[in-house]
Amino acid sequence: MLKGSGLRTGVLGTLLLLLSILVVGRAPSDGISNSNLVEVTFAESESHVGPGPHPEDESDHYKLVQGGIRWFSGSTVEYQINNTTAAQAAAVNSAIATIDGFITTRAFAHVQGTTQINPCTGQPNSISWLAGDGPGGVLAFTAVCVDTKAKEILGFRIAFDSLDTWSTSGEADKFDVENVAGHEIGHVAGLEHVNSPKDGCLTMYKFSDLGETQKRTPGFGDKLGLDKLYTTGDVTPGQCGS
Ligand SMILES: [Zn+2]
Repeated sequence: MLKGSGLRTGVLGTLLLLLSILVVGRAPSDGISNSNLVEVTFAESESHVGPGPHPEDESDHYKLVQGGIRWFSGSTVEYQINNTTAAQAAAVNSAIATIDGFITTRAFAHVQGTTQINPCTGQPNSISWLAGDGPGGVLAFTAVCVDTKAKEILGFRIAFDSLDTWSTSGEADKFDVENVAGHEIGHVAGLEHVNSPKDGCLTMYKFSDLGETQKRTPGFGDKLGLDKLYTTGDVTPGQCGS
């Protein structure tokens, strides 16, 4: 489980366990059994429990979830956004639009009344603000629905901890929504965490700072990983925050 205060982590762990039980107990919505479906889960913490200060150069590190799961070609992926403000929803949409530019096989669209179903949950793809472990500690959680045999991504759900303090303009004493959303959507695209200190300014670095905005756009390693998955052709080195 995650680093952070034991009590907070324990509470969120219990919540996630309950979510997992709910998901496991629910049949795919179309009634067709698919024993290859699993939810791959990710959770990230604030940076004070991370391994160190951020470097100035973007590293070339990336790691693919389960060795390379991806969105196959298909229709537009629809999602809903729940329990938040219009400004925060706009920040989420902006983060998704950025990564959408790298997922060459699909388009993504915010359709609040969507009838598309995540086959792992029986519910629409969603980004929601839910009460988690309180200020600091775990900031957000993502579960990606995967057909492990086909290695295909089929759906997702993301939860932001509503008990953390969020900003849409990179305020120094709050967590930036688009920054954290960019990281979570990176998981939805098929990117795993990178954790070494030299990876500190990549979008897929596991930890986030108050006021940080550099995860809003993919860094060098992130772009290499996205090119590996989606043949984007964008493999440009960059500097932190550029
Ligand atoms: Zn993560």
